[in-house]
Amino acid sequence: MSKLKKVLAVILIVSVLTFIALFGRLPALRRTPIGWLYRALCLHLPRGLKTVDRRATGGRVTLYSTSIFRYLFYTQNPVVIVLFLAVLTASISLFIYHGLARLPWTLILPIPLLVFPPYWFTYRAAIHKTHLITESNHEQRLRDYPYDHVLFRPNRICTTCDLRKPARSKHCSLCGHCVAKSDHHCPWVNNCVGRGNHHFFLGLLLSLGVLELYGAYLAWYILRPYLITNSAAPLFSQEYLIEFANRAVIAVNAGGLSIAGVGLLAASTALLPLVLLAYHIYLIWAGMTTNESSKWADWREDMADGLVYKAEREALLRHQNQRQRGDEAANGKVLKGLAYDLGLMDVERCVDWPTNSDQIVVRTNNGKPPQGQEALWEQVWYLGHVENQYDLGAWGNWMEVLRGR
Ligand SMILES: [Zn+2]
Ligand SMILES: [Zn+2]
Repeated sequence: MSKLKKVLAVILIVSVLTFIALFGRLPALRRTPIGWLYRALCLHLPRGLKTVDRRATGGRVTLYSTSIFRYLFYTQNPVVIVLFLAVLTASISLFIYHGLARLPWTLILPIPLLVFPPYWFTYRAAIHKTHLITESNHEQRLRDYPYDHVLFRPNRICTTCDLRKPARSKHCSLCGHCVAKSDHHCPWVNNCVGRGNHHFFLGLLLSLGVLELYGAYLAWYILRPYLITNSAAPLFSQEYLIEFANRAVIAVNAGGLSIAGVGLLAASTALLPLVLLAYHIYLIWAGMTTNESSKWADWREDMADGLVYKAEREALLRHQNQRQRGDEAANGKVLKGLAYDLGLMDVERCVDWPTNSDQIVVRTNNGKPPQGQEALWEQVWYLGHVENQYDLGAWGNWMEVLRGR
């Protein structure tokens, strides 16, 4: 195998594996080859290797690798961010040192403008802390979003933080806090992405993708003279491809690691931040976070199984109050009914949110509406029949994210 083929094969394999590891668990890709490959590589393969290790070494390799894996991915540590910044800085430095003299000034001018933003966005996304819910900001976080009574109900307590969970929050075991408008924990910035730093994370994805595309273009510009073939063979014929491959080997050798290597790395990885950015643009358009998208995916499956019912909150509360009055009159006891369990009897904070919703959605075990209240509940089969209270329309959602909310 020639040197070029080896380099290309390694880059291709690493890119595909990274893509699968990053995107394979997304609910939207759950039933696609990417989802299957993710489960095969990240769930079934480790299980198989564990069995082999148990028989061969009594499980010692598993123990060591699990603790390294835990440290890397399940504790808050700066390894990924340091590696990312080191590779980025080394690539940029190598390229500038060896490539700048071979570029016209018109192509050099945009470089400082493109190099700076990924560092700045990484820094801003990484140092952000106000989305971590503490006793001091808890009251304010409760007033950020209303409970939608589908994904988030008011009567949930985080057992780790011992605080009432604000709507749209999720506990992150790596950060050790509940996180406001939690999107996901990102080892890349060693922080949770959520309320207040989502826009910095999107800025990082965009600026990194653009920088990589520009870097790849500059490498191609420098190596272009080596890639021009004299062959008169038709485009994409076997003769043309062989000639092109030979030229590419010459170009890689001429460019070396600093130009050809950095250019290939940039070209092969530019798609990752840009695809992730496209996914986040879709989520913002739909008015949901990554965390909420997986909750909605679970609801969609339960709806298809006929397990989901919706009702009007007002009607349920009226029903509960009537029942309670009747019961108090009969035996002086206050009944705790379904409306109480669902958090409808809790006093909700006054939240300044533009949309209002009167719906309440529940999952049942047996596909039957809650007993004694059959008339109040309507079966739901599709996600489209349930309101997303956090969706303010594409423009409104974007404004919320850009304002750091
Ligand atoms: Zn918590
Ligand atoms: Zn976190």
